[in-house]
Amino acid sequence: MLGQQILQLLKQEIPQIEYERYIRQLRYDEEASRSDIAVFYAPNPLISKWVKTRYGEKLSHLFELKTGIKPQISIEVKNGRKKAAEPKGGEFSEAPSPKSPTKSTILNPSYTFDSFVVGSSNQFAYTAALRVAEKPGEQYNPLFIYGGAGLGKTHLLHAIGNFNLERGRQVIFTSLEQFMNQFTHHLRNHTMDRFRDKFRSCDILLLDDIQFLSRKEETQKELFHTFNELHGAGKQIVMTSDQHPKKIAGLEERLRSRFEWGLIVDIQPPELETKIAIIKKKCELNGIQIDNDIVNYIAANMGNNIREIEGIIIQLNAFANMMNQNITLEFAKNVVKNQLKERSENITIDDIVKVVSKELNVKPSEIKSKSRSRKIVEARRIVIYLARSLTPNSMPSLAQYFGMKDHTAVSHAMKKINEMLDRDETFKAKIEELGHKITAITVE
Ligand code: ADP
Ligand code: MG
Repeated sequence: MLGQQILQLLKQEIPQIEYERYIRQLRYDEEASRSDIAVFYAPNPLISKWVKTRYGEKLSHLFELKTGIKPQISIEVKNGRKKAAEPKGGEFSEAPSPKSPTKSTILNPSYTFDSFVVGSSNQFAYTAALRVAEKPGEQYNPLFIYGGAGLGKTHLLHAIGNFNLERGRQVIFTSLEQFMNQFTHHLRNHTMDRFRDKFRSCDILLLDDIQFLSRKEETQKELFHTFNELHGAGKQIVMTSDQHPKKIAGLEERLRSRFEWGLIVDIQPPELETKIAIIKKKCELNGIQIDNDIVNYIAANMGNNIREIEGIIIQLNAFANMMNQNITLEFAKNVVKNQLKERSENITIDDIVKVVSKELNVKPSEIKSKSRSRKIVEARRIVIYLARSLTPNSMPSLAQYFGMKDHTAVSHAMKKINEMLDRDETFKAKIEELGHKITAITVE
């Protein structure tokens, strides 16, 4: 069975203990699954949330490798194989029944305005989203929200959707990828009428992760028409992206300008207090008890991706339940450390070059060049230092990467940076911040 094959593939890619603990307990529902949605059952909400958070994207990708279509992954909570009507709407219910007629309206009922913690990093986006939810199509159309991974963009989209569903409005939520998959599906089956009817008959269109439009010419063309039709009829469009429309490469000018017609707002990484408040809120919503010193520890030591932070809380709680003991600071430290370590296994030197060049305002090609300009030499040294701390690269392999004669230059760079770290607190803070940024981009 396809689902089981996919789980076997996943098994080869993840630590055995995770497979035994979580993945093994999943059941695939062949009947409920379709090409665009794969349905699994987990025995409890924690496993459901855990698998979805950590492996949702990977599962979806494995399906895509096998079938050519990237499905949405739905992990519902149910014991055993029997199908029964499950109450929906709990904090952890991941998606409504895939058989529901409005299938692209897969809204997570726990992503509401109430459950969104507002701080200065996201206040503007929150306020704009709330305005749009209250008066769709009237003021800011389209609303374009952009920002880094795990900062709450999808949450706000769902919040707008949930708010309006309650008021009886027709809402469509779709990721750009789903939009594209459905478009190609209908095109292939000569059923474009149905596709157009569906997307042009809603009151509110919520489009997530629009950056994937990059260089998808046919999809851009279709979206252009959808956009015009909805906008012309005074229907609200809300989009998210990881970048400002100006920075999305390979986007048709006419679409880009339309994206800029309304209001563009960004979400910044949360400040420490906001992170703390979010962790507390998540614990409260999920009935999880964690002491303040642990909350503070997690907020200070994890990066800015809230999805990752949530993963840690869930993991802590799951272990505590399994072992039937309280969560101690020592234990939390271990879990955080393991998570950071595992994450660092995916970091490449290119990732580091990318972040350092952006932050220090030099070009990646300059870092890799032989230039002796002071600024570039320093950036190169920082890359070397971070690569030694965050990746398993040896000094000779770094020397090779930079086209250096041998590893003595690498070791010299390390020495210089270590000296600076010893005497300059600001520099030290800067290096730590770079480290956080690098680990944050490799999470997704
Ligand atoms: P993005 O779409 O920006 O990558 P998401 O909206 O998926 O991020 O958010 C990731 C997780 O973090 C979600 O579970 C979301 O509920 C949570 N989250 C992010 N920001 C906040 C916030 N300000 N308040 C509450 N939860 C948040
Ligand atoms: Mg998102």
